Amino acid sequence: MKKISENLGNNNGRLTIGGVDAVALAEKYGTPLYVMDEDLMASTAKAYTEAIEKAYGKGNGMILYASKAFCCLESCRFAKRNGLGLDVVSGGELYTALKAGFPVEKIYFHGNNKTKAELKMAMENGVGRVVVDNVTELENLGAAAAEARKTAKILFRIKPGIDAHTHNYVRTGAIDSKFGFALENGEAFEAAARAKEMKNIEIIGVHCHIGSQIFDIEPFEDAAEVMLRFMAEIKNKLGVTVKELNLGGGYGIKYVDGNDPVPYGDYIAKISVRVRKVCEKLGLSLPFILMEPGRSLVGPAGVTLYTIGGVKEIKGIRNYVSVDGGMTDNPRYALYKSDYTVVLADRVGEKPAGKYTVAGRCCESGDLIQEDVPLPEPKAGEILAVLATGAYNYSMAMNYNRVPRAPVVGLSGGVDRLWIKRESYDDLIKNDI
Ligand SMILES: *Cc1c(COP(=O)(O)O)cnc(C)c1O
Repeated sequence: MKKISENLGNNNGRLTIGGVDAVALAEKYGTPLYVMDEDLMASTAKAYTEAIEKAYGKGNGMILYASKAFCCLESCRFAKRNGLGLDVVSGGELYTALKAGFPVEKIYFHGNNKTKAELKMAMENGVGRVVVDNVTELENLGAAAAEARKTAKILFRIKPGIDAHTHNYVRTGAIDSKFGFALENGEAFEAAARAKEMKNIEIIGVHCHIGSQIFDIEPFEDAAEVMLRFMAEIKNKLGVTVKELNLGGGYGIKYVDGNDPVPYGDYIAKISVRVRKVCEKLGLSLPFILMEPGRSLVGPAGVTLYTIGGVKEIKGIRNYVSVDGGMTDNPRYALYKSDYTVVLADRVGEKPAGKYTVAGRCCESGDLIQEDVPLPEPKAGEILAVLATGAYNYSMAMNYNRVPRAPVVGLSGGVDRLWIKRESYDDLIKNDI
């Protein structure tokens, strides 16, 4: 397995991203700075698209980019350019996609509590699919569709009863999830029966998403089988043929050495074997297959650059290295104790001098990026890089302590281009009255 450091460009000990010198980028744009390697994003998109075509045949499947991982105009344009569909989970993500000129029929609207206003917005703009989470939403959607004189094309969000958050997954743990309809208690079937009777609703498919940062293939295969059995039940008992099977996202990425992601093509190929087998057994024709990678499309492509401020060595206790960002640009360690790889951008590969805890600048003891990472002795003013920050960093960024959000720079063909400007102090007060 390749080490994460081998994925890095390293020019005489200086970190390069997409062929561009990281320190030079930090000097040009300032820090903190998010950098996205768009060429890597595009090659991942291509790998997914080719794998799904190979597994199911051209035109029988589609990759949707789960935009919550990183959502801005440029990420929507990226998805469009690369032939992907798009998941959105809010009016704000939908608005961004519409403003980016994303083809509306390829937008899938998710979420466990879409408001009436969001459903109206979806119907008026002709969103391709709404993934219905609960009965209240189904009724509200029916009303919104009627008012817009449209038919809502829906998928049902199903809890397949497979909990894949851990290596030793259990099959029954997911009924307590807040997302979607359970199968065990019949609520999914009842919802389908109700939807069949509704005038402005057309049942197109079923959807599941079993978790995130999953490295096993088997839970996905099992989920597909459970979903196909439900499709057969609806067909046999209600006479409704469901055309789309959406298997969600959750494919794991390498944050640190020791994370060993399965090549995305292997996932898709292996799952397709089970899908075909089960379809044959149940007498179903092969559905249109959708997959929704988020993290894996953008995560590995991102690097965050910071400038080091103070370094505190508390003898025998702990060493701190403070950076000019923190939980405001990457709240994931504070939220989930997520793993990250940290390097000094001008001394990659140099022997570590000790272990350092990377601290942010917020007035919170928990504002840490990572604890006890081996680093050469860091110096004030040096550029520190955190790797694989392309997913759930910018999209989770916040203004705590009135810290302006960091800008995003995209790299393509060795050329840097600003995607999102740095927030200004005026931006911070623009809604204050
Ligand atoms: C979050 C989410 C995804 C993407 O998950 P990743 O772990 O980022 O791949 C896909 N589908 C749905 C419905 C989600 O909620």
